[in-house]
Amino acid sequence: WKNAPPNLRALMMVARIHGEREAFIYEDERVTFAAFHRAVAKLAQELRDRGVRKGDRVALAMRNLPEWPVAFFACVTIGAICVPLNAWWTGHELAYGLADSGTTLLICDDERWERIVPHLSDIPSLRHVFVSRAPGELTGPAEHLESVIGAPPTWAGLPDAEIPAEDIAPDDDATIFYTSGTTGNPKGALGTHRNLVTNIFSSGYNACVAALRRGEQPPEPAHKTSLTVIPLFHVTACSAGLMGMVAAGNTAIFMRRWDPVKAFEIIEREKVNATGGVPTIAWQLIEHPDRDKYDLSSLEAIAYGGAPSAPELVRKIREVFGALPGNGWGMTETMATVTGHSSEDYLNRPTSCGPPVAVADLKIMSEDGSREMPVGEVGELWARGPMVVKGYWNKPEATAETFVDGWVRTGDLARLDEEGFCYIVDRAKDMILRGGENIYSSEVENVLYDHPAVTDAALVGIPHHTLGEEPAAVVHLAPGAHATEAELQAWVAERLAKFKVPVRILFTEETLPRNANGKILKKDLKSLFDNPVEAG
Ligand code: ATP
Ligand code: MG
Repeated sequence: WKNAPPNLRALMMVARIHGEREAFIYEDERVTFAAFHRAVAKLAQELRDRGVRKGDRVALAMRNLPEWPVAFFACVTIGAICVPLNAWWTGHELAYGLADSGTTLLICDDERWERIVPHLSDIPSLRHVFVSRAPGELTGPAEHLESVIGAPPTWAGLPDAEIPAEDIAPDDDATIFYTSGTTGNPKGALGTHRNLVTNIFSSGYNACVAALRRGEQPPEPAHKTSLTVIPLFHVTACSAGLMGMVAAGNTAIFMRRWDPVKAFEIIEREKVNATGGVPTIAWQLIEHPDRDKYDLSSLEAIAYGGAPSAPELVRKIREVFGALPGNGWGMTETMATVTGHSSEDYLNRPTSCGPPVAVADLKIMSEDGSREMPVGEVGELWARGPMVVKGYWNKPEATAETFVDGWVRTGDLARLDEEGFCYIVDRAKDMILRGGENIYSSEVENVLYDHPAVTDAALVGIPHHTLGEEPAAVVHLAPGAHATEAELQAWVAERLAKFKVPVRILFTEETLPRNANGKILKKDLKSLFDNPVEAG
């Protein structure tokens, strides 16, 4: 214990010390840290018995159930590589992830198993499956997870066993998380134990440094309950959320599926201190007509990242909940948090995602990567630090392109200010090049968000025969609000240069299409302009 190594085995020993505190709440199931440790030790032994060895890939495909963190820690504490798969994926996509990672053992829930079964012949590496919460008989390589470790309510009764011994170095492989696939096919990012553990340090230390910079007392460590509404298969929830929660002995509440009214009920009943994850979740809580029927005064913080957010959201969170808004930037390749800020820092700079965490370095490079840009100028964001993964699984070319001398080329366009705060202006792939002029999505989207009628907006490039591309927008209006295409164009024209004004604006009844991690699917939106039906 004198030199606890930065690995997830040591983190699980910390979890055990939290004993009878509640770790996870899911519907009426409540799991203490002691029960969590018992289930992890039992499953780790079962994985060993089924032949899982250090470096083997064990995939995880389930909704946010208490079995998710148990399965995750059972794999990584015996040195296996955990592959959390996107639970929104189709059977075909799940089979791709399983085959690409060379998974030998899968732990999944009933729904995912049904989707995977028709594709089993495409996954030659798969030898064994544990299925959770399956009502009937299982066939083939599958057995009921409950038959080996029991269901969550029974974990407290398992023997208090040790996790099987294994030597794990901090830079050993721990996870393969797939990127969101926003700009192309999802790529598996190969993360180490150190990458994951870094998040615990980053968030706590950063909050203290920020408080000191503002001349305030650093926050007191206290027990916190958070409502985890975003999926654990994404690094934001797992790496930035779960790691810190286990280290601190905090309680995480999972929901079967996202539902704002259910969320209000849980916040009131369990006196939840923190929630968020992605900006959309915060908006839905703010805009819900039944919000005032609930006592939400326990909420202290609503933080998010993973996708651009409207600057107005910061103020709204303060006004509506009296809670501290927070924003962080990261990517799968950085195992979550690289920048982050909250409170006054964020309120004063609502378009920034914060300064880098203490252990990260940022630089802004020219497009070709040959020179560093001066302070304040836009270029590609490069990041370095102990959270940056080794590379992509099975993709040497993409690895060589993206990971250069310890830096990750993020593909995001950003600028840094004099104080080191970072401002993401666009993804390089989404930036619109109109003739010789660059148009950054976030600048135009932020102006649209500022219009009182607009609640959601996305800027995309549409083809133009001489200019190459022109800006066009898709917006969603607040219920009962009204605005025409010409009004919104005039609104933008009053605030930005003429070439940035969207030449077309489409209105959608629904909120804009997003993936599991809250990102607008711009690829899908572009096709709306092939045949625009509903303009103005
Ligand atoms: P793919 O790489 O497969 O195209 P993806 O980049 O969407 O998918 P993720 O790793 O989940 O996959 O997302 C990282 C990206 O999310 C970042 O590169 C950035 O564009 C965006 N992002 C993350 N946090 C923020 C933030 N706070 N503000 C704006 N954008 C953010
Ligand atoms: Mg990416």
